[in-house]
Amino acid sequence: WFLEQMNPDSAAYNIAMAVQLNGPLNLDVLQRSLNEIVQRHEVLRTAFVVTNDQAGQVVMPHAPLPLPLVDLQHLPAAERTAEAKRLGTQAALRPFDLSRGPLLRALALRLDPERHVVVVVVHHIAADGWSIGILTRDLAQLYAAFAAGRPSPLPPLSIQYADYAYWQRQSAQSERQGQLAYWARRLAGPLPSLDLPTDHPRPPVLSTRGRRRPFPLDRVLMDELEQFSRREGVTLYMTLLAAFNTLLYRYTRQEDILVGSPVAGRQQSETENLVGFFINNLVLRTDLSGDPSFRDLLQRVRAVTLEAFDNQHVSFDKLVEVLQPERDLSRPPFFQVLFSLQNMKVEDLTLEGVIMETFRLDTDTTRFDLTLEIWDRPQGWLIDAEFCTDLFEEATIQRMMGHYVTLLHAILADPDCAIAALPLLTPTERRQLLHGWNATQKEYPRHLPVHRLFEAQAAAQPGATAVACAGARISYGDLNSRANQLARHLRSLDAGAETLVGIYMDRSIDMIVALLAVHKAGGAYLPLDPAFPNERLAFMLADSQTQLLLAQAHLEEQLPPHQAHVIYIDRNWPQIAAEDAANLADEVPYDPERLAYLLYTSGSTGRPKGVQVSQRALVNFLLSMQEAPGLRCEDILLSVTTLSFDIAGLEIFLPLITGAQIELVSHAVAADGAALLAVLQSCGATAMQATPATWRLLISAGWNGSPQLKILCGGEAMPGELAAQLLPRCAELWNMYGPTETTIWSTVYLVKTADGIMPIGRPIANTQVYILDSAQQPLPVGVAGELYIGGDGVARGYLNRPELTAEKFVSDPFVGGSARMYRTGDLARYRPDGNLDFLGRIDHQVKIRGYRIELG
Ligand code: AMP
Ligand code: MG
Repeated sequence: WFLEQMNPDSAAYNIAMAVQLNGPLNLDVLQRSLNEIVQRHEVLRTAFVVTNDQAGQVVMPHAPLPLPLVDLQHLPAAERTAEAKRLGTQAALRPFDLSRGPLLRALALRLDPERHVVVVVVHHIAADGWSIGILTRDLAQLYAAFAAGRPSPLPPLSIQYADYAYWQRQSAQSERQGQLAYWARRLAGPLPSLDLPTDHPRPPVLSTRGRRRPFPLDRVLMDELEQFSRREGVTLYMTLLAAFNTLLYRYTRQEDILVGSPVAGRQQSETENLVGFFINNLVLRTDLSGDPSFRDLLQRVRAVTLEAFDNQHVSFDKLVEVLQPERDLSRPPFFQVLFSLQNMKVEDLTLEGVIMETFRLDTDTTRFDLTLEIWDRPQGWLIDAEFCTDLFEEATIQRMMGHYVTLLHAILADPDCAIAALPLLTPTERRQLLHGWNATQKEYPRHLPVHRLFEAQAAAQPGATAVACAGARISYGDLNSRANQLARHLRSLDAGAETLVGIYMDRSIDMIVALLAVHKAGGAYLPLDPAFPNERLAFMLADSQTQLLLAQAHLEEQLPPHQAHVIYIDRNWPQIAAEDAANLADEVPYDPERLAYLLYTSGSTGRPKGVQVSQRALVNFLLSMQEAPGLRCEDILLSVTTLSFDIAGLEIFLPLITGAQIELVSHAVAADGAALLAVLQSCGATAMQATPATWRLLISAGWNGSPQLKILCGGEAMPGELAAQLLPRCAELWNMYGPTETTIWSTVYLVKTADGIMPIGRPIANTQVYILDSAQQPLPVGVAGELYIGGDGVARGYLNRPELTAEKFVSDPFVGGSARMYRTGDLARYRPDGNLDFLGRIDHQVKIRGYRIELG
């Protein structure tokens, strides 16, 4: 015979069943029962032989089947179960010799005189899940009869597996051609692979390392789902599958989803009692596009399933052979996840006088990314989830199953809800994501602007150096006096609260004087880096209608076109120095919403937009930074960043409100690795902030490290390689993340080890972060979505751009009231420990790491 189902390639693994038997066990009777089973089901005695160059299968005569007994009683009682698991797993994995048969082996393990574990292993080529049920049932009946001295009570089998295979081969060719054509149509075109978010990057060649874990399902829930299905005119299987599709859609945002699902393949009643491989995996391709409700989806799934069942006679192997899906060793063909419902009642093995309990063997193998088997067991419903450990951590699968259960409940509550809007998170998760990890509330002096915090330091230690720049120094006292004089001069020119003052100056002590003076006058500054193209600066000046400009005399010739009154801080100093040097009183009562600076960001497209940052946001930010990464008055911070990049605000104001020292370098030095390295080594810096590019510049210039240095690195992603280079070169390494719109940095992370991508950490004080889907619902840990930022750092908005402001600064539904949050356009996800991973920018069309988000 040639049994078509029995293809050694497709079924090259074993299936095993293991039970623990509690009570007096008659091993002799058990062995006779097993022998009867092997005798009864010819398929278990089949051998694969090659004769006359033809491969075939031969049913071998029955040879007595041994039942070896391994006594584990010599081991300490506590170790026996583990050893039984180990030996059982070993037996389950040991290959069969297909050229000889039999294809079943059994093993008994004695834990103590009244406790045994019996393991029965069958090559998958000769059995499927259904067969295990038959084996169990047959075994129980035979054992009972033989124990009582009776003959086998089992009625003879009317056909054997070979008869079925023969029938299969004879069955109408035309029908099978038609089915093949159906599948060719269904699976036409480039097939999407399902990109579930993984814990580990997908290796180029996926191994079969896997793990299997049970998750109990509530019986009441399952009963209700059964009733719901009946009312909807579908089967429970269809409902559970539609819910699984919903889960996959929500995890991936993919709308064309392929799931594998086994069919029993036992459509003739004669096959019902046969051990054998009848199962076939169907490819169920569901279209989830068009924002369907769950009810809509259920009807789609129903149609997909019914059609697939009607065309189930083409074996999966045949499909692969004929349709030849693109070969990719990192993924199984056609589908990466498998779904099955086993609601054929599996009876437990009951042996006379012996109590049986399931004994789980975990063979630690899998063929798919994820397999969901839902079982109706005598002990209750459960999900058996098997997952590829190359890709997933167990905790991730555990969370995912929690989301599946949440979905099932939500579907019952509101089947007309859009699948995109069904709740996913368990209440505990939701609390943790929205509130637990966002519990950053911290008191800070909301009633004080930044310059008052600086004035406190100037009063406390007037003689300490505030700024050093190219050999020159200025003390806190002198810096404060000069800033006061310039502030009075600005006020005399009508500067006050909300007045914008452009800063067109080289990096110098005068620039610091200017920044403080603007705040002291009550105004806000607009940085205009002379190194920037004039066109761009002219745009900023015009867009912001800036009326006052602080500049230096040597830059007069290159000033961009403007309408402003220009004060040359050096040339006009004699006049400015005539002003009083004492601190200024508030002109109008201080409002924390007062503008601190206007900063233009280019954005990826369109014209630059001016971000309006308030004093409150800046003060909250600075005080949070004082704690972490942390700065103390002994510190020297080496400042390299252009004022036109908001992070310069940290480099200037953080030392000044702390009583620390700024070592300011020029634009030219900051851009020259060797020159920068020389300053870094000579100035005794204990802190420095820069982008990855600048750190690389220093490393290329031969920097071996500064053991006392605290590194703040941010502005773009920190790759593991850079972290690995920086870690040994410094005292502390921090990854800093944040858009200008939420004030300099919004999350920080202390880097400890350099493997993989560096997280961007957790929100700073009084800051909330959310990972949301396109319906602005929170996404679970591990699932990528858009990063939103709320809290005290959120900017006032874009200057003169109400539509854009409304689009990007939206109300924060998780805090309520007038709270707003900013849509960053960044793709991120939570790690299980609450740290965030930055994954890239969200793009309308492009797929980023397998994740697609529709904006708007
Ligand atoms: P900007 O508004 O110019 O400060 O740019 C902010 C953007 O820079 C963020 O939205 C991120 O896309 C990116 N970014 C800033 N810091 C980091 C970081 N540490 N890791 C990854 N991306 C970052
Ligand atoms: Mg930023």
